[in-house]
Amino acid sequence: MVSLPLFGGCACGSVRYRLESLPTETGYCHCRICQKSGATPAMPWAMVPGAALHYLSGDIGVFRSSTRGERRFCRDCGTPLEYREQGREEVGLNSVTLDHPEWFAPQKHIWYASRLPWFELADDLPRFAGEG
Ligand SMILES: [Zn+2]
Ligand SMILES: [Zn+2]
Repeated sequence: MVSLPLFGGCACGSVRYRLESLPTETGYCHCRICQKSGATPAMPWAMVPGAALHYLSGDIGVFRSSTRGERRFCRDCGTPLEYREQGREEVGLNSVTLDHPEWFAPQKHIWYASRLPWFELADDLPRFAGEG
């Protein structure tokens, strides 16, 4: 079923990307910046090698969200696409933007300390207060 390369993109279709590698790790991030930049209680992510992620089209904006991290998004529709840190080869792709997000279920919760109290979770995945 799952075959490489994988493809994905933003809500308006302007940004498209090709991914030449399977994710090495998946999870939900409950940090405040993911909540705000995604307008969501938790951001599902998939770690992928940066060199395997190729943007094919679209106007990609960069938001420096901390001293070491930046987030990329579609300038046309605002869809948040990824998080990456300076000096780190892996990129946290916002996995719901994949064309088949159902293939990569999140496997843990990180920054669970800032989970919104009304966001109830019934899964048995490991929960980490911070980075995990
Ligand atoms: Zn877009
Ligand atoms: Zn986060």
